[in-house]
Amino acid sequence: MNPIRLLLLGAPGSGKGTQTSRLLAHFKHIQSVSSGDLLRLQIQRKTELGKIAAQYISKGALLPDAFVTELVHNELSSRGWLSPSSSFLLDGFPRTLKQAKTLRSKLAPHKAALTMVFELDVPESVILERIENRYVHVPSGRVYNLTYNPPKVAGKDDVTGEPLTKRPDDTVEVFGRRLDNYRETSAPLKEFYAKLGILHRVSGETSDIIFPKLLSLVENSLNGSGTPETSEKSTTRDA
Ligand code: AMP
Repeated sequence: MNPIRLLLLGAPGSGKGTQTSRLLAHFKHIQSVSSGDLLRLQIQRKTELGKIAAQYISKGALLPDAFVTELVHNELSSRGWLSPSSSFLLDGFPRTLKQAKTLRSKLAPHKAALTMVFELDVPESVILERIENRYVHVPSGRVYNLTYNPPKVAGKDDVTGEPLTKRPDDTVEVFGRRLDNYRETSAPLKEFYAKLGILHRVSGETSDIIFPKLLSLVENSLNGSGTPETSEKSTTRDA
């Protein structure tokens, strides 16, 4: 099996967390790192880093590039993933062109470059409706939706039974700012990965439509059989 190092891009609420959980459940040898989850854990633990992060997150602003890059790089390193044979999935990082370039330069010496980047393409009207019903289990990053993916017991995480919480940055005002950030920062990021020939746009209104397309792309990549007809292989024109 080929190593596979994935990045999921998508507007907040496009289902990156959900798709990550489903991919990890399917491909047991792949693990993920989510920059948002790492930051929320720091906040929950009330670390110095967490206090700084909370100020940005509560406003819906992006944290400084160097700050997040170091956090994620340390995590990749401590998990032993800076190696040519590693397989992993990144969620929420890199989020800006600067982060993408720095990550690329940090992975290159280890021959551990990203192999595929997926852009989850979900209509904004669907995203806004989804956010209202979103609840998370902070320690694990598991995401629930009261309409189509409710917890087995109301308000509790399925695995640990711990309480679920509403993200404080899922309010209409803060969420709008996060969507604006995504529109601004994602275009150059997508162009960067399209030029490297590894960007795939996967479109759909629901996670159930998107997931089989992702699955097929990942399976083909693991088996080394090229790009199937399940996505648009993006060019710089698309980005
Ligand atoms: P997420 O869970 O990915 O939606 O991230 C939640 C919040 O954490 C974002 O709105 C940002 O404030 C911050 N954040 C997460 N990842 C990054 C990143 N790569 N760069 C800057 N800020 C980030």
